[in-house]
Amino acid sequence: MTAHGNLSSLIAELSHTLRRMAESGVRELQCSAKSLDALKSWGRPIRRRTATVESLKDIRADLGECVRCGLSESRTRIVFGQGHPKAKLMFVGEGPGHEEDRAGEPFVGAAGQLLTRIIEAIKLRREDVYIANVVKCRPPGNRTPQPEEIAACSPFLRRQIAAIRPLFICTLGGCAAQTLLGTTEPISRLRGRFFDYGGIRVLPTFHPAYLLRNPEKKREVWEDMKQLIKEYPYEG
Ligand code: URA
Repeated sequence: MTAHGNLSSLIAELSHTLRRMAESGVRELQCSAKSLDALKSWGRPIRRRTATVESLKDIRADLGECVRCGLSESRTRIVFGQGHPKAKLMFVGEGPGHEEDRAGEPFVGAAGQLLTRIIEAIKLRREDVYIANVVKCRPPGNRTPQPEEIAACSPFLRRQIAAIRPLFICTLGGCAAQTLLGTTEPISRLRGRFFDYGGIRVLPTFHPAYLLRNPEKKREVWEDMKQLIKEYPYEG
């Protein structure tokens, strides 16, 4: 439900309760000055806060030649992210691999080619979506990023998400889902259903690199993608 829908149903519920109280003889309500002020403002148009949202360019500039964690020592290039700056759908992986470290772009190796096929299977193009990772530098030997590396880097991912404001985020693999959802649940338990991340719908699914090793799991990813297709606002 939208914020507006929530407010409307809350007001409807409140007015129903107040009417029932009046009918049963209640004539006065004790109310703090703060609540009274809030009540008086009901019905006035809501003034929207115009918080300035930083752009992806600002965030990239702030990241700079990052040395916030040890991954900076072994990386070739920072892999910031790539795609449509106002994408309705964002994919979040774990961290760059060998090819991405060389290219400075996310998901360009074998797993990336599979991700491109997944994107095309849901009738989108890579340019329509935004692709980023939890950590922006390659963990040596493609190991899983360590908690302090995730802690140093994930604020940049969160800022990218705030700048893009996608409708959907599809997390790829356990690391991305666990980082964004703040859970330690395994990906096998998280995948295939929508979660909320500050009003953005998050759909965890398996990582394409895992699919390359376990092709029989592609069927489950396709089931997850069908959920996205059902909800995605395709144009035309
Ligand atoms: N795996 C990831 O998680 N991210 C990439 O960019 C490439 C492979």
